[in-house]
Amino acid sequence: MLAQIVFVATLFFTIALFYRSVRRIRRAILLGRKEVKNDHKKQRWKNVLLIAFGQKKMFKRPFPALLHLCVYLGFLIINIEIIEILIDGIFGTHRFLAPFLGLFYNVITLGAEVFMLLVFIACTIFLIRRYSGRVERFEKPEMRGWPRIDAAIILWTEIALVVALFIMNAADQVLQQRQVAPYHKAGFFPFSQFLIPFFSELPTQTLILTERSAWWAHILGVFAFLNYIPYSKHLHVFLAFPNTYYSDTGIVPLGKFAIDENVKKEVEAILKEQFDESAEETPPSFGAKDVFDLSWIDLLGAFTCTECGRCTAVCPANITGKKLSPRKIMMDVRDRCEMIVNVIEEKGEWEPDGKTLWDFISEEEVWACTTCNACAEECPVNINPVRIIMQLRQYKVMEESKVPEPWMAMFNNIENNGAPWPFAAADRFKWAEKITEE
Ligand code: SF4
Ligand code: SF4
Repeated sequence: MLAQIVFVATLFFTIALFYRSVRRIRRAILLGRKEVKNDHKKQRWKNVLLIAFGQKKMFKRPFPALLHLCVYLGFLIINIEIIEILIDGIFGTHRFLAPFLGLFYNVITLGAEVFMLLVFIACTIFLIRRYSGRVERFEKPEMRGWPRIDAAIILWTEIALVVALFIMNAADQVLQQRQVAPYHKAGFFPFSQFLIPFFSELPTQTLILTERSAWWAHILGVFAFLNYIPYSKHLHVFLAFPNTYYSDTGIVPLGKFAIDENVKKEVEAILKEQFDESAEETPPSFGAKDVFDLSWIDLLGAFTCTECGRCTAVCPANITGKKLSPRKIMMDVRDRCEMIVNVIEEKGEWEPDGKTLWDFISEEEVWACTTCNACAEECPVNINPVRIIMQLRQYKVMEESKVPEPWMAMFNNIENNGAPWPFAAADRFKWAEKITEE
């Protein structure tokens, strides 16, 4: 009974903490400005199925994709097992589902063990890949410090959860063989049975203690993992689905710029002012100075980012040694949102802290973008860092009239000649005259 009380109390505490984190993330995402994106619903759901559920974009690189799929399917299957652990924990039962599911219970335990083994292998390979220094994208400057530790925490936790499950199953099988109540015959355990020799000589009381300790270690690990996710890059486990739904549908080509409503209003106001004295005020600002100016969909993308660095690995600016890394842009946006939410939670409302997103992202990074959209194309969860970069760039150009020196000449040419080149419109076809003469 005491164990049940402790379990229920821990469960409530876990749910309360998780709810608090969810509220915090929701608050952070809603710092962004409103944007409605609900067109092409059919295509959006198709994208969710193919990209978020099906992990279609991951399979551009089959080996890591297969490993990732193992972890993902393991995560789904283990949820069935967790339902049973929760029931057992609350009602003090043991393998509650077994009598109800009959042979199907064996299929579930078999599936759980197969995928747990695959998760174990995949996480071990991920650890070796990530920390061997052989994958360049994991070695970029933005991956130093916390992001590097974060990835290790998750991988080691997953390995520890699998080990606890195998120990639990092995001890359980010995207790089942000895017909110790309540360890009734249930389940099929193709891999943990190989651990039985380590437990078969132990006294029954030690076995029960081992099984219970592994059971508690497993479920407490799951609870801790659940509450750690909101503070880690693994938030994509939940956010990949809404992010894919609200992301670019693929119907409009990636490089096509949408008409900026603020710019449109400004031009209309200028035209109106020429004819109408009572013209309305111009829009307040252009582009993004801080996360409040970005759309909530951009902020959702920042919290969905898995920090995989596939965007950075294909970014021509980064490859050619520029400071720009689209992954860092997403990480910076998320860090700034978190900083603001901390202030709001501490003071009850937002009090400007004298900082902006420009304290995280430099002009050098923003100007380096070629707008090739390779990053958006590559992202496995359909994040589009270019949208953010362009809004930052627009702020510098339209609010601060700041551009790199060579661009100024181009702007002047566009203004004076209607083209980026330093030739008058009347001279534009001179080159053709020369060809005709020859
Ligand atoms: S669009 Fe910009 S950030 Fe993205 S890959 Fe191209 S250069 Fe890099
Ligand atoms: S933006 Fe996408 S590709 Fe880039 S690091 Fe984040 S999840 Fe990976």
